[in-house]
Amino acid sequence: MKDIYVTKASMPDFEDYVAEIEDIWDSHWLTNNGLKSQTLKKEISEFFGTKEDNISLLVNGHMALELLIQSMKLTGEVITTPYTFASTTHAIVRNNLTPVFCDVNEDDFTLDVTKIEELITAKTSAIIPVHVYGNVCDIEGIKKIADAYGLKVIYDAAHVFGTRYKGRSLNHFGDATMFSFHATKVFNTIEGGCACYKDERIGYYLKQLKNFGIQNPETVDGIGSNAKMNEFQAAMGLCNLRKVRQGISKREEIYQTYKELLRDVKGIRMNKIQSNVDSNYSYFPIVVDPREFGTTRNVLADYLIKNRIHPRKYFYPITSAFDCYHEKFDSFATPVALKLSKQVLTLPIYEDLTIKEVYRICQVIKKCQKEIKK
Ligand SMILES: *Cc1c(COP(=O)(O)O)cnc(C)c1O
Repeated sequence: MKDIYVTKASMPDFEDYVAEIEDIWDSHWLTNNGLKSQTLKKEISEFFGTKEDNISLLVNGHMALELLIQSMKLTGEVITTPYTFASTTHAIVRNNLTPVFCDVNEDDFTLDVTKIEELITAKTSAIIPVHVYGNVCDIEGIKKIADAYGLKVIYDAAHVFGTRYKGRSLNHFGDATMFSFHATKVFNTIEGGCACYKDERIGYYLKQLKNFGIQNPETVDGIGSNAKMNEFQAAMGLCNLRKVRQGISKREEIYQTYKELLRDVKGIRMNKIQSNVDSNYSYFPIVVDPREFGTTRNVLADYLIKNRIHPRKYFYPITSAFDCYHEKFDSFATPVALKLSKQVLTLPIYEDLTIKEVYRICQVIKKCQKEIKK
């Protein structure tokens, strides 16, 4: 029996990629805004329904977020979620800002907007929410608070490439948005990322910051980093973008199969697709209620692994409980996030996963419950 991992990077046909990179051998232009990344930028802006002046491609999603925060000159405290990947919190702290952790909604895993206002102080400059698993934050609620207190909003949209809210891509909301094109995401450029922004001046700063602050060969007027997307990444993106919608349809089929097969399993809560949202079905989280299910998330995870199925405790631990932060932040201040992190498991979902394999995974979950009951 084959091992099934939580994800598998989507790749184009080998011949497609080779055809795409062939002319790099004519140009010898490997990086620094080459022809491939220029084309990818154009195609992604079309995919997003936005102007090229409002997006910037970067070496990865994390640097897109770090440099967006710098470009927007945030100060002091930033309200954010601990129920996320390391990157979101690290990007804030690495910019010498203080993350202030707000709890999340039990049902959709995104920021609980009713708890934001009590965290705002004179030092707060921004809110950095995360669209989790393809779910969309309460965009209107967040905007209302941000407008009332003069705060900037940067969305971590690493999970939601291809998701639409009220028919529009998620780059259209907030002051700025970061997407990740990492190998494990719905759309990948191997590593890669993209920053989207309303104010075109941010684009100017980003262009500087991602290339050492070099204005022209003799003028360096910013203390920049190096975060450019290279041509091989962009070529992978061009190939993968052609089949991203098809990949999302396959994920949807897997998603619906899981929903059907796990519907009657006591103690397992599945994610609901929100109204007004066309999901990209990027993850399949289940929340295991130990009393109802009969055992804990950890026991279920080990049982699956013994059966050569490798789910992921995503997200566990919450970022405020990381070893590097736990002396600084109180993970008990966000009880819902803390609880979810101990009960959630993301099951395998990727475009090549077969429906037969989904049956096998669900059977093992049911078998685990049955054996525990004995
Ligand atoms: C993947 C991810 C990132 C980081 O993106 P990279 O492209 O891997 O740097 C940030 N935030 C979240 C929520 C992610 O899932």
